[in-house]
Amino acid sequence: MPRIHDNAIVLARHDFSETSQVVALLTRDHGKVRAMAKGIKRGTKTRFASGMDLLDIGHVVLIRRVERGEALSTLTEWKQTRSLPALRERLFRIHAAQYSADVTGRLTEEGDPHVALYDALVEALESLAVADEPFQIVARFQYALLDSIGSLPRFEACVHCDRREALTHFSSHEGGMICESCGPRQTEKHAVSNATCRVLSSGDLAAPAVPPRAPESENVPLPEAYPGPFRLLDYHISHLMGTESVMSAKLLSYGRT
Ligand SMILES: [Zn+2]
Repeated sequence: MPRIHDNAIVLARHDFSETSQVVALLTRDHGKVRAMAKGIKRGTKTRFASGMDLLDIGHVVLIRRVERGEALSTLTEWKQTRSLPALRERLFRIHAAQYSADVTGRLTEEGDPHVALYDALVEALESLAVADEPFQIVARFQYALLDSIGSLPRFEACVHCDRREALTHFSSHEGGMICESCGPRQTEKHAVSNATCRVLSSGDLAAPAVPPRAPESENVPLPEAYPGPFRLLDYHISHLMGTESVMSAKLLSYGRT
């Protein structure tokens, strides 16, 4: 059975027994992997240098069960390589990080590698650990996720008539923006503000990150340009998943304070 060495982010973990856990990992070169971590909670096995927590980044050694696609791999070594304790210092940071891990776990297939997606998730977690607001960072990550899985919508023009002005709605089913003329005959649609439309069609979310500008106080309502793109991309992601992430409502409640 092949032994794999890779970098990985912990997307989810569930207790399996007194001493073991089942973990979902996003590995850099081998995609999503579900693995049994025997003895990881006992802490006596030296091959597990530390416990494994949600959103931890580290190096793994796995034994893959290639003969049975559904079978869990076995985690044989784990060493945390990047510690981001500041993620847990503010509630919106950890909610944003959990949202990112949740939608990644649901929208990726096992064993289908996306190096750019792995790098984007590491960048999002590192940025969130020092962030003063979550939406710009998460929207960039949502954009990278949709791009990686081949489900990036068309933002710059109406999907029905190619018009580039007066884009008032978004349709997840049609995969992009809808103009005010085509809007009335589109059943499934989500209203989009001008500010959100500008951010999404500008290509800013695909460009290299700039440090986010944050409002001075958490009590100041955020400008639409912050939560708007997040909300729209989350609408599309929910449509693709067939369900909403529970973390999405928690994040949006932060934006409304
Ligand atoms: Zn149109």
